[in-house]
Amino acid sequence: VDRRRFLTTLGAAALPWRAHGGDLPHTDAARLRSHLERLSEFGRPPGGTFADGVSRIAYTQADIGGRAYVMSLMRDAGLAPRIDPAGNIFARLQSSTNEPARQPANLPILVGSHIDSVPNGGNFDGDLGSLAAIEAVRMLTSTGVRTRHPLEVVVWAEEEGAAYGRSLSGSRAVVGELPSSELELVVDGVTKGDAIRRIGGDPSRLEAARRQPASLHTYLELHIEQGGTLEKSGVPIGVVEGIVSIERLDVTVRGFANHAGTTPMGERQDALVAAAQLILAIREIVTRVPGRQVGTVGKLEVAPNATNVIPGTVKHTIDLRDLDASKLTRIATDIRERAAAIAAATRTEIEVARVTHHDPALAAPGVQQAIASSAEALGLKWMRMPSGAGHDAQMAARLGPMGMIFVPSVGGISHSPRELTTWEDCARGADVLLRTILAVDQADSVRSLL
Ligand SMILES: [Zn+2]
Repeated sequence: VDRRRFLTTLGAAALPWRAHGGDLPHTDAARLRSHLERLSEFGRPPGGTFADGVSRIAYTQADIGGRAYVMSLMRDAGLAPRIDPAGNIFARLQSSTNEPARQPANLPILVGSHIDSVPNGGNFDGDLGSLAAIEAVRMLTSTGVRTRHPLEVVVWAEEEGAAYGRSLSGSRAVVGELPSSELELVVDGVTKGDAIRRIGGDPSRLEAARRQPASLHTYLELHIEQGGTLEKSGVPIGVVEGIVSIERLDVTVRGFANHAGTTPMGERQDALVAAAQLILAIREIVTRVPGRQVGTVGKLEVAPNATNVIPGTVKHTIDLRDLDASKLTRIATDIRERAAAIAAATRTEIEVARVTHHDPALAAPGVQQAIASSAEALGLKWMRMPSGAGHDAQMAARLGPMGMIFVPSVGGISHSPRELTTWEDCARGADVLLRTILAVDQADSVRSLL
């Protein structure tokens, strides 16, 4: 079977506006651009321009202003925004809420992203997906296209975790993974609970923010890639296969601290030499099998960390990522074996401890196919890829079939004022998002999208 032709046919056949006799709808690229430019003013450095990026840390005045602006855009698009107890903005399309409840077609299609940023962040991370979701809804209402499933837009609260050091706050609350102890965290004299109140949430009712598994027809998020793969490949659309599993290990190497001048080379128990061998071994183990798995040693502490003392103790981290969690388990086992061999050879002790493990969040194959066929129908090249960064989509995936669309990041730069996605690519991503909403809307059951 010619796969490309199959997907093109699927894309064309599944689209409802054929019945309306209209052309294929496109989002309004100029309007999307002007909204992105306007949103970038909230958190812009004083006296700066769009090119200077934003610092829109969650719960700050900049965040509050940006959220108010986004809610005004939602109302203009016919959406009715409300703030949930965790501070997330959810907005249903008003016309959809009047439809009689049908099972299971009454489950909503949820579309969105976040608008908080890291300090000195860019104008596209989160903003693009949030505003493109609103633009898609506005285009559907203005062209009179009604979806079979209720449409709902979300702007998640504190995705970046720049305010209290915990990312995905809003989406974790929605799946019941924001512990109440986290509300007691204090930064600059303000508890996280009070910060959530500041943006209109109600942490005393946090439990009411929860949504149940299988409560979404589909979750869709458009996002910048934040890496350089799409740009290097000359492909405008990434079909995300899932958000990678992350395995974090802590390594402690114990040698013997001794005088750097009087201890002969053959008698040393140098913890840093052992750690250096292990770090190179980790790179070798991670790269010896084909695939896109990555492994990083990014943090190292040497004690006593003095010029004239042989290092006695070294602690370092290991961060392993891949879509396949079992692959990471095998890699971790190999690292432990190699650590034991290096310890014996260097007369040190090496302890490798697992710190955290996050399972991957896989995108539903049916949603991936809907994204791919939507790109095909628009004449856009696409490629499948994992997301090495975390996203709210990984939490939303627990509530229903999830799909993410990536667009190119120029130079692979993100979390920087230099973060850039061309306006053409922003518009392409928004068009694919719009068509994907319509394509998944044609699926009757959540199960057919899994
Ligand atoms: Zn983001």
